[in-house]
Amino acid sequence: MLKANEKAEVDIMDRLPTPFGLVRSGVAPDHPETKIVINQFSRVAKNDRCMFFGNVNLGASVSLKELQDLYHVVVLAYGAESDRVLGVPGEDLKGIYSAREFVWWYNGHPDCRNLAPDLESTDTAVILGQVASIMEDLAQGPLASISSMPKPGREGLLELLDDRKVTVLPFSAWEKIDSEEKQQGSLKHKPREKLSSWQELLKVGSE
Ligand SMILES: Cc1cc2nc3c(=O)[nH]c(=O)nc-3n(C[C@H](O)[C@H](O)[C@H](O)COP(=O)(O)OP(=O)(O)OC[C@H]3O[C@@H](n4cnc5c(N)ncnc54)[C@H](O)[C@@H]3O)c2cc1C
Repeated sequence: MLKANEKAEVDIMDRLPTPFGLVRSGVAPDHPETKIVINQFSRVAKNDRCMFFGNVNLGASVSLKELQDLYHVVVLAYGAESDRVLGVPGEDLKGIYSAREFVWWYNGHPDCRNLAPDLESTDTAVILGQVASIMEDLAQGPLASISSMPKPGREGLLELLDDRKVTVLPFSAWEKIDSEEKQQGSLKHKPREKLSSWQELLKVGSE
């Protein structure tokens, strides 16, 4: 969108204090070559016409209707935040995890940091199902149908979030988190030590 229309402004919101969705909290740490796409995402986020709004939860901090009133185009790309229930007996027994929970846990997602699967007292595991990766490209089309009526966009959203006392973490906050994680990692001879609690992430990001 930024390339297709030199006047377009794009704001990216995420309920987490950190950007990159599943690339940060899905793709495994031993696939750094896949995570490299973060460089590309960062270039977009640092564009003057783009702003990242971390810690902004659609449905709680702001409603869809409010976003539609503020912006010409609203793209909902909220990924998969819940699991399909199979309805088989024993599905809810201890030690059975959805792939989403397990992946979020080993990637330090704040919502699953306390999952604590017992990996010590077992030597067998069963994986049911498969992972299918789907990359979706945004068509350039939506911009073409934008009406010429001005909309408040970013300023309107910032005002609204300010009224609601939402602590917005911009991309520069992510850069602080990124730097802290790398620093903590270097002490342990690792590329990074992920901050995974909401408190830590908000504290470091807001410093
Ligand atoms: C283990 C694993 C390995 C993978 N490996 C690869 C690979 O090698 N190559 C590949 O191409 N793909 C891979 N993928 C898939 C890829 O990561 C996903 O397809 C991609 O990240 C999906 O992007 P998305 O933007 O749809 O969703 P997500 O990346 O999940 O992003 C959605 C974002 O929306 C946010 N959100 C949710 N609800 C709200 C709300 N109410 N308000 C505000 N924000 C909200 C979430 O916090 C999240 O950051 C892998 C996935 C997993 C799980």
